[in-house]
Amino acid sequence: MSDNWLIFIPTRPDHVPAPHAQEEARALLAELLPQADEVTASVNPQIEFVDPFGNWSGVRCPLCHADLEEKEWWMEAIGMAFETAFENLTVSTPCCGGTTNLNDLDYIWPAGFSRFCLEARNPRVAEFDVQAVKRLESILGCQLRLIWRHL
Ligand SMILES: [Zn+2]
Repeated sequence: MSDNWLIFIPTRPDHVPAPHAQEEARALLAELLPQADEVTASVNPQIEFVDPFGNWSGVRCPLCHADLEEKEWWMEAIGMAFETAFENLTVSTPCCGGTTNLNDLDYIWPAGFSRFCLEARNPRVAEFDVQAVKRLESILGCQLRLIWRHL
């Protein structure tokens, strides 16, 4: 059986909301997604790459829109950033030589880097209301990125 996750991560990879805010957001998400199998909030000791797995649709340069995955540049850049525990995500792009960072690349299906994850397993919804995202953002005190993971 395959599983789906709806994962919320702060847009800033090292941002970790206060524990009471995490719990408040978790409770709200559980209330908003009553059909979900499980809703959890977790903090990793270091920044991790939050991957959409089966939904992965490639990655492009945010500056000139060139396809970065085809050149295998992205895999190499991820490997190098991993060696810094993803604390240094700065990259210079092979296509146009611009400076950006791995978190801000144009992931065609959203992906990102984070320590904090708020997630719902099998949310049984196909989309998530923008107003509800704003409520979660105001509780957590940060902007959020939504990642739909399919395994
Ligand atoms: Zn480029």
